Amino acid sequence: MLTLEGATVRFGDRTVLEAVDLAVADHEIVCLLGPSGSGKSTLLRAVAGLRELDAGRVLLDGADQAGVPTHRRGVGLMFQDHQLFPQKDVAGNVAFGPRMHGVPKAERAARVEELLGLVGLPGAGGRSVAALSGGEQQRVALARALAPRPRLLMLDEPLGQLDRGLRERLVVELRELFGRLGTTVLAVTHDQGEAFALADRVVVLRDGRIAQSGTPVEVWRRPASEFVARFLGFEN
Ligand code: ATP
Ligand code: MG
Repeated sequence: MLTLEGATVRFGDRTVLEAVDLAVADHEIVCLLGPSGSGKSTLLRAVAGLRELDAGRVLLDGADQAGVPTHRRGVGLMFQDHQLFPQKDVAGNVAFGPRMHGVPKAERAARVEELLGLVGLPGAGGRSVAALSGGEQQRVALARALAPRPRLLMLDEPLGQLDRGLRERLVVELRELFGRLGTTVLAVTHDQGEAFALADRVVVLRDGRIAQSGTPVEVWRRPASEFVARFLGFEN
């Protein structure tokens, strides 16, 4: 599905992604972990085409994405700061992607209701997004990212502002949904419990390089370096 080959991003004289090689298989759920500033969001943005690489390649289903604009990549991205469209109501936000893709109205409405139910906001379609709490806005942003059913969905801290009970329930339901729709997922999280519950594989970044990649059990049982062990130990 997704292959990064030697992916490198520089900001001025700082290299924030350094020759990253990463392959994500069809239907795989990969969680990216790593300290603040290690390059997680930059990696997602590069895959989405919001930032061109300074060296290396992004391939989707084998096709080099150099120069391919974001809307032609068939990927969905939920940002860390999830900006909703303030002038649209909740349903308008969630239905936006499907409408762009020409999904018929009745089907759009069904998806909106299903996804609002999933994120714990059933019947909230008519509400103004400006009047929602931060956590509610985050849940609407998650529903919006899921609605077009992209083949590759990238989520940057999708549950960051939610309380533990809701996160735990959503992780289980999201995993079920991704399995049902066959969605390939690359998700950033700071929460190790979330990564453990959601991911088929976790990838730990350190200073723009991959420090370790493996199943959650492998990484937690056998950290590849003192850095990974310390990073996992210090969190939570
Ligand atoms: P966090 O967990 O805090 O979200 P992150 O792993 O997502 O961190 P990135 O946002 O990918 O980190 O940033 C990696 C590094 O690149 C940081 O040092 C950041 O300051 C730098 N950086 C990111 N975007 C830019 C930019 N547009 N211009 C200059 N530097 C940038
Ligand atoms: Mg980030």
